[in-house]
Amino acid sequence: MSFFVRGIILEQKKEPMLTRSTLVMRHEYEYFDCDFPDIALDELSREQIIELARLAEIVDESDGKLLCEKLEKTDLGEGGTLIIDAVDDEPYISSQMSGCIHHPEKVALGIELCEKVLSPEKTYVAMYKHIFDTNFSIPKKIGNYKVEKIGGRYPAEGRVYRHIPKGKNAVVVGACAMLHLARAAEDSRKMTSCFITVAGDAILNPRNVEVPVGTSVERIIQLCGLNEKPEVIIMGGSMTGRSIFEPENEVVGPTTRGIIALSRGYHNPSPCIGCGRCDHACPKALSVSTMRKLAEFGDFEKLTRYDAALCIGCGACSYVCPSRIDVAATIIKAKKQMELAKKEGTL
Ligand code: SF4
Ligand code: SF4
Repeated sequence: MSFFVRGIILEQKKEPMLTRSTLVMRHEYEYFDCDFPDIALDELSREQIIELARLAEIVDESDGKLLCEKLEKTDLGEGGTLIIDAVDDEPYISSQMSGCIHHPEKVALGIELCEKVLSPEKTYVAMYKHIFDTNFSIPKKIGNYKVEKIGGRYPAEGRVYRHIPKGKNAVVVGACAMLHLARAAEDSRKMTSCFITVAGDAILNPRNVEVPVGTSVERIIQLCGLNEKPEVIIMGGSMTGRSIFEPENEVVGPTTRGIIALSRGYHNPSPCIGCGRCDHACPKALSVSTMRKLAEFGDFEKLTRYDAALCIGCGACSYVCPSRIDVAATIIKAKKQMELAKKEGTL
């Protein structure tokens, strides 16, 4: 790791999830109709596409916003760019990339409909390029849309804007939301499912799965099987997710990107050895080791001087810690407590 470049290089571990087909968990509401009039796709107007996204209740997996509202409120102006988010820069996670690779025509149709609403000058699909643990090579195009390969250290999501000319607008929408929009347009299907990567060394059959929104984590793990009892189960991203302790009581939502079951977690951490790796890994250049100590002592007064509010919860500090301390969880918890204390006027 360089001491001059922030962020970390992560082993991506996206196989075999990426090249295996998506496992679909069937359910009774799979083809819940969104009651949209039967109109030829090329005759759909801007307003009708927004209405379609509204009736289909599509949630953008990249930010949790309703797609219809995003389409309605976005004004790209002249020279704007539409960016399709299939970055998946966290280890194991490949649910967005997999959607693009296994359903390129659907994703491309969704993008086409979005273009009709937003009239961008340029559109591209963004994918993280440092995937070395797979035979898979990133496609040049999804349909007719160019794939821009995003490189560099983790976290890479912020670099999707690097091709945007100064003074021009851009909007990011999730690749899976595009797939759901195409299904709504072609088959009048409501969005009732979400795409999730199920992986980790405790998972027997790691896969990308499509499951009904609201399915319990326990059911999804049963679908893929376990080869040993996991010490930790993470829901969300492998770096940005949270540990869960009752998988039978946790359900997945439209923004859940992964379920990672690991045989070894952050339990029984060793004491901090003061190595400073967490400081150098932080993409926001925060004084992480000092912040962690202050957070553990509950010294929020001093912590306010260290810009804890700038933490983006990327998890890089926990990943590099040789003592297996969940540094990010400590900082994120402290950040929330400080926000609350500020609201209540006690800080
Ligand atoms: S979780 Fe926060 S403190 Fe840790 S590396 Fe990421 S931004 Fe820095
Ligand atoms: S990486 Fe871990 S051991 Fe090293 S300074 Fe940070 S918290 Fe301490």
